[in-house]
Amino acid sequence: MRSRYDETEEKKAIERWGSAGPEALAQRVYTSRLIGAEADLVLHGGGNTSVKGQHTTLLGDRVDCLWVKGSGSSLDAVTPRDFPALDLAYLRRLRALDALTDEEMVNQLRTHLFDASSPNPSVEALLHAFLPHAFVDHSHADAVIAITNQPDGVARAKEALGDRVAVLPYIMPGFPLAKAVAAAYEASPNVVGIVLAKHGLFTFGDTARESYERHIELVDACEKYALERSKRAMVSVSATAGGADARVAMAAPILRGLLAERTSSADVPYLRMVSDHRGGIDVLAALDAPEAAMLARSGPLTPDHVIRTKASAVFVEAPAWSDELKLRTQLEAGVKAFREAYDAYFERAVAARGVTRKKLDSAPRVVLLPGAGILAFGKTKKDARIAADITEHTLQTKLIAEGLGKYEALGELDLFDMEYWSLEQAKLGKGAERPLERQVVLVTGGAGAIGRGIADACAEAGAHVVIVDKDAGAARDAAVATEKRFGSGCAVGVGADVTDEAAMRRAFDAACVAFGGVDVVVPNAGIALVKPVAELSAAEARRVADVNYVGVLNAIREGVRVFRAQGTGGNVVINASKNVFAPGKDFGAYSASKAAAHQLGKVAALELAGMGVRVNSINADAVFGYGEVGSGLWGEVGPERARSRGMAVGELPEFYRERNLLKARVEAGHVGRAVVFFASNATPTTGATLPVDGGVAEAFPR
Ligand SMILES: [Zn+2]
Repeated sequence: MRSRYDETEEKKAIERWGSAGPEALAQRVYTSRLIGAEADLVLHGGGNTSVKGQHTTLLGDRVDCLWVKGSGSSLDAVTPRDFPALDLAYLRRLRALDALTDEEMVNQLRTHLFDASSPNPSVEALLHAFLPHAFVDHSHADAVIAITNQPDGVARAKEALGDRVAVLPYIMPGFPLAKAVAAAYEASPNVVGIVLAKHGLFTFGDTARESYERHIELVDACEKYALERSKRAMVSVSATAGGADARVAMAAPILRGLLAERTSSADVPYLRMVSDHRGGIDVLAALDAPEAAMLARSGPLTPDHVIRTKASAVFVEAPAWSDELKLRTQLEAGVKAFREAYDAYFERAVAARGVTRKKLDSAPRVVLLPGAGILAFGKTKKDARIAADITEHTLQTKLIAEGLGKYEALGELDLFDMEYWSLEQAKLGKGAERPLERQVVLVTGGAGAIGRGIADACAEAGAHVVIVDKDAGAARDAAVATEKRFGSGCAVGVGADVTDEAAMRRAFDAACVAFGGVDVVVPNAGIALVKPVAELSAAEARRVADVNYVGVLNAIREGVRVFRAQGTGGNVVINASKNVFAPGKDFGAYSASKAAAHQLGKVAALELAGMGVRVNSINADAVFGYGEVGSGLWGEVGPERARSRGMAVGELPEFYRERNLLKARVEAGHVGRAVVFFASNATPTTGATLPVDGGVAEAFPR
């Protein structure tokens, strides 16, 4: 590992952030980001850094101050705002106490902030306070972990780094660790860093650069030590990376169903998770290593991973890729064994610690599938990605550690303390969930005006959205727009023609690879044709029916395939039309095909209720666009519709508004909200039709 420090960049950082506090804080932000940029050092919120200086109070007093990273923020993107300022002199006095509970420690930190609106300081804030140095850097470097997660880890760290560091055995973060680190430093005041076995590395210095570069030097020494001594040979890849996606599409929905937690609510019977897949060559090679299965069952690299990945992964030996039934049996057995082992671990730990705790869910977060890769799960795509990132590093680091000697993780009681530590759980955040949280919505015709309105409304309600459109580029653009509004990872775009059975199958497979499955299918793609029945050719009628009716059938059928694999019910919400009840002349091909789709929905409602799948329809009146995006359908048929009504095209929106009871302009967002209503299981409703038309008497459902 090499230093990324650059004097010019540091100057730029001071220009950028210097006004937010002392110059040293801007330097602190700069080198913190250098550490954050190195995935081999820290991942997602791991590690923390600090700087000491002087703070001027409102009364003009100059007081000693500690700026330490806030809990949960990620080093790669920190700003001065992420470093709460604390009363350093007071914090140092706490060291005289014999003990300090976690709750009281958090209280002491919060009540000694200089700005009440600051985020919570890192749980390791006191450790930073008790060390005398201006700058302190802490990471969970893979190389340090590979050396210290060994039965003789303390001795190996000393061998690798000599007397430049002090080495401590594992101590849980919090007040006792803060005191132990300060004492270790005072006993050997010449050290430049402290290794915490099975946890990570601290370094310190007088300048941001010094502390950072000492960190990199020590990690580099550990990397060299590990690579020179590790017997781990490169393993060849037995599976082709190309086939991984098809395998994931098969396994992911089954696993997603097995991992969903049953609730006591009849309306929302499952709490689902979404997945993230990693299937690179190095991942597949690692999973083919003979020791992979054993290592998958061993504990995490560093204790705070446990809240993201649980303590171990499910490893499926020799998955039956050519036999879906057998594969299901294997996955069921793997998840069942994991849940049983988790329950037993929980019982053992609460008994051994003599505490009462509310048990967390027993579902695994990581499933390792040789030949397919890593499937990581979480409440959101972001959570799943974090678990997948950690797992990629974990696989490689464990293999190197095993090659070095014997990989040994923390004991289960230490992991339990961390997993059930309130300060760690607080990082995951709680709060009320949005109505479509944990669900995956697939919408066809997703790049059109109504499709985008539906996608955005669902994403806003917490769903992950698969935007399917005949135009693959437009589908991707729409997904990017939705991600911009509602967060990275919430949407993907997939190109598929709804009339093409194979393409629709691939689109649903893509949804399974992207998010693990599908819970809500919204057949929305549609085309129109203005022509009187007397002049309508068979070919024209077929073309419209193929999209508006057969396209709906293809979407529902493929959706049911995924619903079956998951076994957790689902929703189909068909975008039909006000025309179903109130047809207009010259619109025969359109109205008849929409009526067919609507009727198909009712039959599907009858057939699918047994598996917990609801099928409902939305009858919207004319929607002319969504933001900048005009309606493709109205762009095509607008002029002729206007002509048959004897008006100019520009007058159409006003005509449609005037003719409904509420004088409402029907918008794409309204259709989106209706989808959210049905998909959230707010009422026990299936086979129903909800008009979104401002009230058109002749289109009242009957
Ligand atoms: Zn740490």
